[in-house]
Amino acid sequence: MRLLLVEDDAMIGETVLQVLRAEHYAVDWVRDGNMAEEALRTESYDLVLLDLGLPRRSGLEVLRALRARRNVVPVLVATARDAVGDRIAGLDAGADDYVVKPFDIDELLARIRALLRRSAGRAEPAFEHRGVSLNPATREATLHGEPVSLSAREWAVLEALLARPGVVLSRTQLEEKLFSWKDDISSNAVEVYIHGVRKKLGANLIQTVRGLGYLIPKQ
Ligand code: CA
Repeated sequence: MRLLLVEDDAMIGETVLQVLRAEHYAVDWVRDGNMAEEALRTESYDLVLLDLGLPRRSGLEVLRALRARRNVVPVLVATARDAVGDRIAGLDAGADDYVVKPFDIDELLARIRALLRRSAGRAEPAFEHRGVSLNPATREATLHGEPVSLSAREWAVLEALLARPGVVLSRTQLEEKLFSWKDDISSNAVEVYIHGVRKKLGANLIQTVRGLGYLIPKQ
């Protein structure tokens, strides 16, 4: 899953970035409203963590412009503890949820998981499909009840495909889920992770659609 972190405070940004990366999210971090706008126009994200008080363009302006473009990416706004008005304005401008600064990190992560789950149209916390279970909260993967150890990026590839069974994701789309701007991408990286998943979960779970990409069948 790829996240955009919009935060102008260097210390908060650095901390949140490290925490999110430790949870295996691919994260891009921008520090002002204009850069946020630019990133949201050019890249595709699974979720945005948006500070409202930003230089150059406020978080609310970024959010309103985003929704005016009919972009439905889940947005979690970050506000100060006593700023009830900001929370209301954020929600009314199209935010899906809010977190209060200073963050309780575990709560932040739980809210992110909840929004990602909801945006994927999933009620239950774990992905369950064809004998495979993937639980983002515990980071446990099992095959027919037996634990399977996946690398962070094998997990990310599998999660992206499990989120949309029956839908073909191209190599580029999968790369977008896996890598932030800072990462060097080798041309066959996605193939390598798919190969890893197949070795651990069986050759038939992820199917190759020649010339188009990969999918996990619906049934
Ligand atoms: Ca700020």
